[in-house]
Formats: sequence, C-alpha cells, structure tokens
Amino acid sequence: MSIKQIVSNDSPVLSRADVPGKRHLFNQHNLAAFRQGIEQSLQLVSHRLAAVSQPFSGVLPQELAPAFAGIDLDQAVGDHAAVLAELATLYLDDAVYFHHPRYVAHLNCPVLLPAIMAELILSAVNSSLDTWDQSAGGTFIEQKLIDWTLGRIGLGPAADGVFTSGGTQSNLMALLLARDSHCARQTGGNVKLHGLPADFGRLRILCSSASHFSVQKSAALLGLGYDAVISVPCDAQQRMDSAALAQEIARCHADNLQPIAVVATAGTTDFGSIDPLTAIAALCRQHGIWLHVDAAYGGALLVSPQYRHWLAGIEQADSVTVDYHKSFFQPVSCSAFFARDRRHFAHVTCHADYLNPLSAAQEGTPNLVNKSLQTTRRFDALKLWLTLRSMGADEIGAMFDHVIELTRQAYATLRGDAALQFAAAPQLSTLVFRFVPQQALPDAVLDAANVYIRKAIFRSGQAVIAGTKVAGRQYLKFTLLNPETTLDDLLAIVGLIKHHGQHYLAGQRDAQAATAFSA
Ligand SMILES: *Cc1c(COP(=O)(O)O)cnc(C)c1O
Repeated sequence: MSIKQIVSNDSPVLSRADVPGKRHLFNQHNLAAFRQGIEQSLQLVSHRLAAVSQPFSGVLPQELAPAFAGIDLDQAVGDHAAVLAELATLYLDDAVYFHHPRYVAHLNCPVLLPAIMAELILSAVNSSLDTWDQSAGGTFIEQKLIDWTLGRIGLGPAADGVFTSGGTQSNLMALLLARDSHCARQTGGNVKLHGLPADFGRLRILCSSASHFSVQKSAALLGLGYDAVISVPCDAQQRMDSAALAQEIARCHADNLQPIAVVATAGTTDFGSIDPLTAIAALCRQHGIWLHVDAAYGGALLVSPQYRHWLAGIEQADSVTVDYHKSFFQPVSCSAFFARDRRHFAHVTCHADYLNPLSAAQEGTPNLVNKSLQTTRRFDALKLWLTLRSMGADEIGAMFDHVIELTRQAYATLRGDAALQFAAAPQLSTLVFRFVPQQALPDAVLDAANVYIRKAIFRSGQAVIAGTKVAGRQYLKFTLLNPETTLDDLLAIVGLIKHHGQHYLAGQRDAQAATAFSA
C-alpha cells in the first residue's frame, strides 16, 4: 500500500515544500533570514536611539490614535523594511524612553545589554519554565538564581522561590500562602480544596499606608476584599509605625479578628521608605503572624556594597518579593517570590496527568510549575543570569548605590529652594516635593498648579516626571533609577517645573482679572 492510498481523501501527501509559513519559522533553514531580520531590527532601534533627544515626543492619545485606525491586521505589509518603517511611526517615534536621563517618573530602569542578549536567546529557543520536559537546563538556571537570591536574603535551608511576572503576582502569592497556611493552622481547613472558611470575614491583612496597591488588589482576588486590609499609619519618614502596628494587632484580637499577614515594605513606591523590619518581625513572631517583606523596589540592596544593612531583618520574613526589573536593571518582566518554608508552595500545587503528574514529583523531576501561579512561563531568569555572569553582582549594586547617592545630592541641593516643598527626606532614590511659589495661595490652587506642571512637562516631552498625593495634597515625584542621570539633569527639570508652574499661575491671575473686569 502506498502513502497515497493511506491518505483517505484526494488531498496530496504533505511535503516540506508546501509548509505554510515555512519562510518565517525559527529553524536552521532560515538562519540567513533570521540574521537579516535581527540586523534590520537592530538598525531600526539604533537609528531611533541615536535620534532620541528627549524621553518622549509629547504625543497625545487623540493625536496618535488615527494612525492606528487605518491599519488592517488581516493584510500583511510583507516586506521587512516596510513593516519596520510602519512600526517606527506607530511605536518607536512616540515611545517613552527609560534610558533617557530625564525620564525620572516611575520605577522603570534603563536595561543592561547582557539582559537584552538574553531576551533574544530566550525568545528564539522559547523554553517554557513550567516543566523540566519543556526547559531542562533552564529549570536549573532559574533554580540557581533563586538559591543565590535566597542566600543573599538569608531565609535559611528550607526556603524556596520561583520567578514571577512581577511584584504584583509575587505579593498575591505571598498573601495566598499566608491565607492558606493560616487557615490550615487555625482550623485545619484546606482552602485549596474546600474554599474559604465560614468565618473568612474575620481575616485581616496589615500593611502601612504607604504600601503598594497590589496588597488591596490581592485581598480582593483572594476573596477577602479591600475591607480586609488594615492600613497602619506611618511615621514622618513614611515608614510603618511599629507601635501603631502593635495597637492594630491588639485591636484585631480584641475584635475577634484574625490577622493573617503583615506586609512590610522595603522601599515604598512613592518614598523609597523601608519599614522597620526587625521590630515588625518581632511583633509577627510574638503573635504568630506571617511576615511578608515587599522588597520589589529595595531588593537590589541585597547586592549593594554600601547599604545592604538597610535590609536588616529581612532574613526573618516568611516570604519576600524582589523585582529584578526595577533596581537590578532588567527588562520587564523579571521578578521573583520567595518563601521561608518550601512546603507552603503546596498551596499552589496542582497535578495534571498531561503536564506534571504526581509521579513525576515522586521521581524527583523538578517541575517548577508546582511552585507557580502561571503554567506556561517565560524564561526571564536567563536575563539575570547573563547579567550576573557578565558583570557580577557588585557592579549592579554599585549602580543602585550611585542612584541613591544622586538622590541625596539632589535633595541637599534642592531642599533650600524656596519654591519647592519636600514631603520627606529621600531614602532610596525618590524625591517627592511640590512647587510652592512665594505668594500665599490656597491649597486647591497649589494642587491644580502641580497637576498642570506634570502634564505640561509630559506634553513637551522634554522630561517625564511622576505625580502623587501626600495627605490629600498633590505632589510631584522623581524616581531615579538611571545612573546616567546627573544633578544638572535634575536642576534642568526643576527649571521646567518652575517655568510651567509660573505660567499656570500667571494664567490664573489673568483669568481672575478678566472676571473682575467683566463683573
Ligand atoms: C512596583 C511595586 C510592586 C508591583 O510590582 P510589579 O512588578 O509592577 O507588578 C509591588 N510593590 C512595590 C513596593 C513596588 O514598588
């Protein structure tokens, strides 16, 4: 019987000649096209990079949207050059460039070259880190980085961890493990199997008023709701007040509520403040409460030659979040979650015959999916791996130390400026302040002026700064993560702030005069 006869219908036998998409597949037949595509992409990025004179074009959504309206995604443009030219106008011309020294808005970093090389390799090979049979060596690379970070934190021999998509997912994991281990200890209940206990309304999470909003978000996702989160007041430096925490714990117990976790932040998003970890750890130990340390931002202190001691106490945590895509200068995403006792990962373990059967675990096959909320998972670990193998840990730490020092110098220089009012002295690498001109003005006008300043600067594209509120009032924020930003850059941005602030107030005065005149 010939192959022809086996095929039941009249369709021709499939051969390699007519594989759809074959010119575009990553394999050994297409190496020339691969190289050409990479070179063209590299050229595009290089040209753009050479032309970047400010961090942003200033484009408004309504100005950019029409360019997308005419795009028909069903029709390929075809030729590489044309595809990339289109991408330049749709994306690269108006991208927000974090490598630019005057991008000082959010916790975005310029990225390291070894990590970009890793992106190319990991995307091309496309390992998926859920199971050994999809990643083999990749599994060990990730595990080795987890163990290395654990060693730096000092969580002890029973600890383990896993890479995640970011601090938000890490914090969710922390609170899930805290909730489920609390319920198991308290009532013997198994939340994974049976859901929340009947009295779940009594569960509480404590964090400071300056903690990240992913704590609230996690509480909602975990079926507890925002109401389960108790906001503990901060001291003047925006660090959790540990005496207030003790009071809140006592109040919980008096009200028959059950605190399942305290989230301490090592580097708050707005202020870079580090909660008093040792004092908080003592309280948690005393009351048997899970301590999670959110070091999404401050995690790089683990490799800091000068400031590692600022994290003292982190080794007493039950779990820790570290975002390598912030202070370790890694491309998004690169982040990890750690727990002191690896047995707690069982709360997220689920066995499937088609993927990670229990038998594989019993045979000792390292299937990382057993520790993760995700299934298919990027090999983000490779970025940190190539970075550490190329640069070593000290140089990354020195980069972070450098931006901390820059922040201090900027504060020392600017704090005497009568037109600026600082919310607090800096701790890691953020400065929170507002434009406050000489003349006495109502708070509402000051708030509006500072909102205006941020928008006007963004519109100009000359710099990108952030805004936030402190005690209900509008502030501006610099987040410094670029070691190439200089004091002069910051002074120039302050010049822009004053310029736009004065412009706004002048406009207000004119409007007032006009109203007075017409009245
Ligand atoms: C950024 C940040 C997070 C969230 O991390 P993502 O990676 O953005 O999900 C959580 N906590 C703190 C303190 C952060 O600064």
